[in-house]
This record gives sequence, structure tokens and C-alpha cells, in this order.
Amino acid sequence: MRTKLMLVIGLVASLGMVNAEARDAFAETKIESQRLNDSVYMLTGMGGNIGVSAGDDGILIIDDQFAPLADKIAKAIGNISSNKMKYVVNTHYHGDHTGSNAYFSEIQDTTIFAHHNVRTRLQADKEVKPAALPVVTFAEGITLHFNGETIKVTHLPAGHTDSDSVIWFEKANVLHAGDLFFQGRFPYIDLDGGGTVDGYIKNVRSLIAMLNEDTQIIPGHGKLATKADYQSALDMIVETAAYIKTKKDQGVSLGDLISSGLDDKWKAWSWQFINEEKWISTLYNGQ
Ligand SMILES: [Zn+2]
Repeated sequence: MRTKLMLVIGLVASLGMVNAEARDAFAETKIESQRLNDSVYMLTGMGGNIGVSAGDDGILIIDDQFAPLADKIAKAIGNISSNKMKYVVNTHYHGDHTGSNAYFSEIQDTTIFAHHNVRTRLQADKEVKPAALPVVTFAEGITLHFNGETIKVTHLPAGHTDSDSVIWFEKANVLHAGDLFFQGRFPYIDLDGGGTVDGYIKNVRSLIAMLNEDTQIIPGHGKLATKADYQSALDMIVETAAYIKTKKDQGVSLGDLISSGLDDKWKAWSWQFINEEKWISTLYNGQ
């Protein structure tokens, strides 16, 4: 219960809601399922988007949103396949991507995989149950041969956090980019969690180079996307980062930059969690 409450408080903090609102938001959240090919699906609800591999070998999911949504997520997965839940892969340590880890490991006997730093950072959080910790951790990556797919999990240098991995479904031509992609929104770069603006840009650039026009991208947040969408997001980041860096080097204060704002063409990228002010602050403090 305490963990659940802490997660609600965490959500309250990140979305600016009061407790009752957060509980209502969980209660009202629907987990929607989208089929990407024979065995790969994307689930959306509240928090990070979930990738699913479902087939004869069982079920693997990428990320698992918030603990209060675990039952609903399990039900949505059950509607795709009645086969056994086997693996969870976490793209990074944030609570909106790892919140149901304990549910899947305790109730569904699932093995959790993630980069070493996901375990280290979750372990440092006293509110996180030991059952939520990844059991198999890696430095550079791991490949799973599952449901006829080659599923490559690759760690990238510090970008969104210092624990980021992306997951590539080779045959399906699907990339789960984790929070190295916020589709159509200013991204969150967790400077306190080891993220860096420069690293984020470099990682996104290297990922885009792997893709083609047919690639389906599951972003950490936002709708299913294409390479062109990812390129637009990169262009926005590069342009706004260069602008803030130039102004900072000229001695303009953060307060002045926030009051003058960014070019109007970036208005639509602002959202509840990362509004224009927060994005400017990240770019100012992070480079
Ligand atoms: Zn995140």
C-alpha cells in the first residue's frame, strides 16, 4: 500500500495533480492495444508506452507503467495471448516505466531484464520493493531469440538517464526507443538521473541512422511514430538546444530566456509535464 501511495504521490508531483485526481486518473485509464505485426504490439495507458512480443514462446513486455495499472495491463496482455508471461525488459529506471515490475515478478513469475544502472537506481529508492528489481542486468546489451524474432536490447551512453536501453525487433522492423523519443513533445532529460542534452542528441542521431521508411517506432511517450517523426523531434531538439546555448554563452540569464520564450513554431511541443519553461531550463542547465 505504501508503495502504491508513493507512486500516486510521484505521479502527483510529475503531473501536478492532487491525490484524488491521480487516483481517478488511474481508475479512468484504459489500456489500448495496437497490433504492429504478427507478434508485436504496442500498449498505451498512462506512463511509458509498453511493447509486447506475444507468440508460441510466451510473452515478453517492454516497460510496465504504474503499479495501480498492473491488473489492467495484465488483462490487456491476456486479450492478446493466453500464453505464459516470461520476460519484462525495462528501457530505464523511471517509475512510469517500471511501476508494475513487482506485480509481474511476484504474481506472474516473470524475469526482469535491464541495464545495470536500472537495478542500482531502483535499489537506491527505499520505496521500491526488492521484487521490482531487474534480475538479469547487463552493461552493453543482450539479445533474446523469442517468438521467431531476434530482439536486440542495446544500452546507449547517458542520454535520457544513465540507464537507457532501446529494443529492436529485427524482423518486424520495430524499435522501442524508450524515453529517447517523446513523440511530438518536448522530451524529459533527467539531468539528476545521469541524462545529458548532448548525449540525448547523439543517441537519437545514431538511432535514426538505423531506421528506414517502413520502421514502426514505439516512443516512450506519444503515438506510434515513423522515422520522419523522429527526425522532426531531433530537429526541434538540435535547434532549440543551439539557440539556448548561444544565448547562455552571450550571458543572457535563464530568467530572461524563460520570459522571452522559444520561437512560436515550437509552441505545440509544450505539454503538461515538460512545458516550454521546463524545456528551456533543461537546455540551459544541461549544456
Ligand atoms: Zn523516463
